[in-house]
Amino acid sequence: MNKNILPIALLVLIAACNKAPLEPAAEAAAPSVILIIGDGMDDQQITMARNYFVGMNGRLVLDDMPYRSMIQVQTVQEDDPSVPDYVGDSASGATSMATGVPTSEGRISTAANTNDRLETIMEMAMAAGKRTGIVTTSRVTDATPSSFIAHMSNRYCETPRGMVRVDEAMPQDSTDCSAEFIANGGPGSIVEQIAGSEVDIYLGGGAGRFNDIIEGSDSETIRQAAIENGFNLIEDAAALNGELGPGKVLGLFANGHLQERMSGPVARYIERENGAPVWPEPFSCELNPEFGDTPSLADMTRFALDRLENDAGFMLMIESASIDKAAHYWRACGHIGEMQQLEESVQVALEYAADNPETLVLVTADHGQPAQMIPNISGLAPQGHAPTGRFARIRTLEGGIMGIGYATNDSELWEEHSGVQIPLYASGPGIERLPQFLFQSDVFRIAASHLGVGEPWPAP
Ligand SMILES: [Zn+2]
Repeated sequence: MNKNILPIALLVLIAACNKAPLEPAAEAAAPSVILIIGDGMDDQQITMARNYFVGMNGRLVLDDMPYRSMIQVQTVQEDDPSVPDYVGDSASGATSMATGVPTSEGRISTAANTNDRLETIMEMAMAAGKRTGIVTTSRVTDATPSSFIAHMSNRYCETPRGMVRVDEAMPQDSTDCSAEFIANGGPGSIVEQIAGSEVDIYLGGGAGRFNDIIEGSDSETIRQAAIENGFNLIEDAAALNGELGPGKVLGLFANGHLQERMSGPVARYIERENGAPVWPEPFSCELNPEFGDTPSLADMTRFALDRLENDAGFMLMIESASIDKAAHYWRACGHIGEMQQLEESVQVALEYAADNPETLVLVTADHGQPAQMIPNISGLAPQGHAPTGRFARIRTLEGGIMGIGYATNDSELWEEHSGVQIPLYASGPGIERLPQFLFQSDVFRIAASHLGVGEPWPAP
């Protein structure tokens, strides 16, 4: 049969079923997507994790995924979206992946310049009767998770009180989302949009944001509004293993972001004695004493998959957020430990997909990070030279010493992102048709095509 002459409706049906029309289905399989985003997971971060945990000759879980390609990050200028911005943030990156439309930095699924609302893959999956889930190690209101369900001109308009805020020390962090107040015909703050959403599973941090009072009320908190909207609120990791009634789940396991699993000394500038650099002592990473009973990303992944499994399929986004957070603040062990969390979550997702072969697993990043692997003692040390930025020497589990440098600006505030291309790993149906080079917005097209809520992609 020549597919080109099939009526469009039948083509859509075939795409939705993802099966040849004449083959009897072995069982009613529902296409599902697990999208795992390592925030800031560039090749530097992946290489550091490999060197640290499994050694230079070892293989990560990621390394054995059957498909890998490179993604060009796409960010545009707010004032003129036809002009590129070569370094993006989590908001623009997640919006590209969630909606298929590149936007400017700081925007949550809204269009650059026009502020038009951009429909997300979660909303499309929901409309098609699929279950949806969002899991993160950051606040659930942070840029990556919120871009999959909320719409806002500025990522920092997380709560009603944060919608209009003047920051005199850092004017670039001031917010004016006044046009987006519900009273002004807008969608309300990000946390109110989440509390009012129909997402089946929300797991992460950010409990503090839910203590704000809802817009227009004297006393009702967003926490109360979420419960009224049908969310089972859980705040104790043990509840992930306990009995829980049917319905939506909002799991908030920290006031802010979840704790990082591993810790160690913060990278610092090289000191000098009589002009000669003093090389810092190498150190090993430790379990962060503050981690306590924080649920692991793998535990949250397992819980979400258990509850999302159903005959109609699901869309699940999982974010390993602290690769980014730790790298901004020179916590080398923080980002290395978060890569371990991501690896464990990928392992859980791949095991689920092995039992549920209509599941497409995608693992990618949103942008590059500042941390880079450099010589653990500079080759120019005999001439008195040393790294210009902050620097750490980490002893790996196999006994090597890894030099990690950070040098994007000369402030004491934080490091910035980099504009490097990022990887996409995939496993599941249709991966043999994916090209080896992609644009960030193609992640949306791949997911929408597999779920049957968008055009078949790549085009047959
Ligand atoms: Zn960042």
